[in-house]
This record gives sequence, structure tokens and C-alpha cells, in this order.
Amino acid sequence: MTLQVRNLVKHFGGVHAVQGVSFELQVGECVALIGPNGAGKSTCFACIAGQHRLTRGEVLWAGERIDRLDPAQRLARGVARTFQVAQTFEALTVLQNVQLLLQAPRGLAAWNVLDTVQLDAAQALLAQVGLQAVAQADVLGLPYGAKKRLELAMALAGVMGEIKSAGPRLLLLDEPAAGLAGPERADLMALVKSLAHAKADARAGVAVLYTEHNMDAVFGVADRVLVLIDGQIAAQGSPHEIAQNETVRTRYLGRAGHAALSDRAGGGGR
Ligand code: ADP
Ligand code: MG
Repeated sequence: MTLQVRNLVKHFGGVHAVQGVSFELQVGECVALIGPNGAGKSTCFACIAGQHRLTRGEVLWAGERIDRLDPAQRLARGVARTFQVAQTFEALTVLQNVQLLLQAPRGLAAWNVLDTVQLDAAQALLAQVGLQAVAQADVLGLPYGAKKRLELAMALAGVMGEIKSAGPRLLLLDEPAAGLAGPERADLMALVKSLAHAKADARAGVAVLYTEHNMDAVFGVADRVLVLIDGQIAAQGSPHEIAQNETVRTRYLGRAGHAALSDRAGGGGR
């Protein structure tokens, strides 16, 4: 297993956000972390990527303890995350955003012309996320769906650009399709899945862990599902198993707004 989270505990004062979470993840897997608002999903991500210190527990990546490292050190080992709200440089073009991330570990000197650095690699990443056509557009005027795609390309660029990281990559995607609806949402989730399933050897492959707060972004996307409720893993299994799970049905899926999704799960998903 490439990512090992062991007994992760995170308290914010008296708020017990994460209460002893353990799970593992392999390169090539696309795993969904689902659960109601406030369950502790984003907090888990912040503990794995380094924005928060753990209260207790361990996080291992490729056999190494990373839970005492800062986010930049974790990035250098191939661990990157995105945030619930898209974070991009709006005054730059789409292409320049990716070039900047690719060049970041090498440092950008005053005499570098951004437009020429890492050009081929940046264009390849834009092709991977379907943004070649808007490469020269300023991010400011970009539709929201394209911004979310750009964010994925930037997360990939963040770990691909690292000189030190020749090994596996972990992408932690916090609600990658937040704010999107319908076909745009389905397309983005298909892209998320393709990032983990892209042909690569195990050493250089990508593991994807993404959060969601409902099931429509889980069926046909996730290989495996972890259900977080009140800071604890309440269930885990295949999307189909999770949809049938009694605890999940009563404590999460059964809540108002999720009834239709349980029906879909009964039909085997999409
Ligand atoms: P989710 O992403 O599943 O919606 P979060 O991880 O954001 O849940 O939040 C889990 C719990 O931790 C919530 O009760 C939230 O209010 C609390 N929490 C999250 N971040 C902080 C913080 N920086 N300070 C204090 N409490 C926090
Ligand atoms: Mg969250």
C-alpha cells in the first residue's frame, strides 16, 4: 500500500473533527471519501497534505512517515491537494498557470520568460484535462468548469514538476466537481477517474483520493468508497456495497435529499 493512514486524530480545541481514522490507498486506485458536511473530510485531507498537524496518528507515503513534514516537503514527495474553492492565478493565461507550477521547484528567475519555460510539459497536461483550446485565454474570464479542470492540471503540475519526486503521486481532490451540474459534472468526474487509471508503471503512477458529499459522483467513478461520519470511518467497500450498507443508508444516504440516489444504487449505478 502506498498511502497508509493510521489512527488519525485531529482536534480543534474541543472539536473532535477526526477520531481515529485508518485506511490505505494504492497507486492506480481512485477512492472516494464521502460523508455529510462536517464529517471531517477536508480535515483528513489537510492532515495528509500538511496544512494541519495531527493530534495523534501516523501518515505514511511510499513507506515513509510524512506527518511531520510541511506541505512543500510533502509535495516534493509527490503529495498534492486541491481545495474546495478553485485556486488559480487569474491574471495569467491557462497555459501560464500550468507553466508556473511546473517551474516552481526550480525557481523562476527574473530573466526567465514564463512563456518559454516547460512549454511542452504544460501543453501535454492541458491536453490531458481537455483545455488545449483555451490555453491562451486569461483565467479571469474562464467558465467555472474550465477553472476546476485547470485546478486538476495545476495539482498534477505541482507534483510532476518536482525534481525530487520520481516516484508515485497522490492527488487529494477536495470536491473536484463542486459547483458543477449535469454533464459538466459527469465529464469532470470521468477526468478524475482517468487520472488514476492512466497507464503508468506502479512507480510513477497516480493514486486519487477525492471527497464528495453525495453518491452521484461515486458510481462509475470510484473503485472504492470510504464513508466518514462524525470523524470516523462508518463503512467502506465498493460503491454498490456502500449503497446497500445498512449503517450508511440510515445514517447518511437515508437523509433528506439522498433518497433518489439510493434508488439509482439499487439499479447498479451508471
Ligand atoms: P467536511 O469537509 O467533511 O465537511 P471538515 O473537515 O471541514 O468537514 O470539518 C469537520 C469538523 O471540524 C467540523 O465540525 C468543523 O466545524 C471543524 N473544523 C474544521 N476546520 C476547523 C478549524 N480550522 N478550526 C476549528 N474547527 C474546525
Ligand atoms: Mg469539506
